[in-house]
Amino acid sequence: MKRLAIFGATGSVGASTLDLVARNPERYRVSVLTAGKDWRRLAELARTFRPEHVVIADETAFADLAEALAGEPVTVSAGAAALESVAREPADLVVAAIVGAAGLKPTLAALESGIPVALANKEALVCAGGLMTATAARTGAALLPIDSEHNAIFQVLEDKSRVSRIVLTASGGPFRALSRQEMSAVTPAQAVKHPTWSMGAKISIDSATLMNKGLELIEALHLFGVRAEQLGVLVHPQSLVHGLVEYVDGSVLAQLGPADMRVPIAHAMAWPERIATPVERLDLARIGRLEFEEADRERFPALALAEAALAAGQCRPCVLNAANEVAVAAFLDGRIGFLDIAAVVAETLEALPARRLDTLEDVFETDRQARASAQQYVTRVKQTSFAARRVAG
Ligand code: NAD
Ligand code: MG
Repeated sequence: MKRLAIFGATGSVGASTLDLVARNPERYRVSVLTAGKDWRRLAELARTFRPEHVVIADETAFADLAEALAGEPVTVSAGAAALESVAREPADLVVAAIVGAAGLKPTLAALESGIPVALANKEALVCAGGLMTATAARTGAALLPIDSEHNAIFQVLEDKSRVSRIVLTASGGPFRALSRQEMSAVTPAQAVKHPTWSMGAKISIDSATLMNKGLELIEALHLFGVRAEQLGVLVHPQSLVHGLVEYVDGSVLAQLGPADMRVPIAHAMAWPERIATPVERLDLARIGRLEFEEADRERFPALALAEAALAAGQCRPCVLNAANEVAVAAFLDGRIGFLDIAAVVAETLEALPARRLDTLEDVFETDRQARASAQQYVTRVKQTSFAARRVAG
């Protein structure tokens, strides 16, 4: 029986994980469930899965959650410190499925305690990949990728010293075929409609800008310990080949599977074993053809920005991530346009000087500065676009 601590249980990855738990009650039980704000859903999940601890990040939701679970045999707490503290509770696997840099502290706490982590929360690795992998190496905690491309690579990676290239595939997102002109008018509702995957809002926007693939390159650098130049991206609209590893002899090993997150999640949950899942089976004869194309960095500048941050290292990935989180939230709120997302990230990267990030404090300080700077650009973009509209009108 494996005890699972699920961080970000009310999200898309959280739901897929709990679906697999519910289908395998003899193998898994849930010890911890956490959520950001949605205390109603968290209380519902707690009554179904009976964890020992629940935590809501939003402290203003504590009273409602505690009342909803009064009389249940579960401890209820709230806030960032509580999240970190339950991450140290005994568990066989922590599923890190919080979105954004907010997931860094609990994930790091689990690794510090030597608890294996199944990682969906790529932003944590982008901000503090060096610290996370060093901690995992020190305590011996396994870091198992849930992100589908990285899980694919993990499944086909034999001997790192014989690898010549690692390629992550990208669907290209909902705007793969749009011009910049057409992209300038897209709405948040259009941008969150992903052609092949069903996911949370933030990662869906990242997939539409291709920032997601850029974040994933940085994620891959840390997970697989290869050089930045060995990492590449290939657009593959069907999302059935998830990742490829080319070896020095010219062999290429790839992992294929349906575009259903329960496949990589099941792999990480069961590793080194495998469990059955109910996903639709891949029927290649029916699919007929698989397509591949180069990514277009002119129409999707976010990918180029992330590649530059990957190559530069130091604080650049952390700044890129923080600015992107601010810009995506502003776009989802209707405060800036779709093309402004990459513009805000570019401006923030230019504004902040390069520096080394040696400690967690350095990471949080850089994250905070980048967010403040990005907010300023968001405000300015908003004012200029209003001005442009007034002139145009
Ligand atoms: P989501 O928005 O559906 O869920 C996010 C979860 O995090 C929710 O439970 C939410 O309550 C919680 N949360 C949000 N802000 C928080 C905060 N400040 N503190 C604590 N908890 C907070 O997101 P998702 O699509 O499930 O993605 C989760 C992570 O997994 C992201 O890092 C994403 O990039 C990654 N990922 C997701 C998918 C996917 O298919 N959804 C695939 C690969 C990787
Ligand atoms: Mg992915």
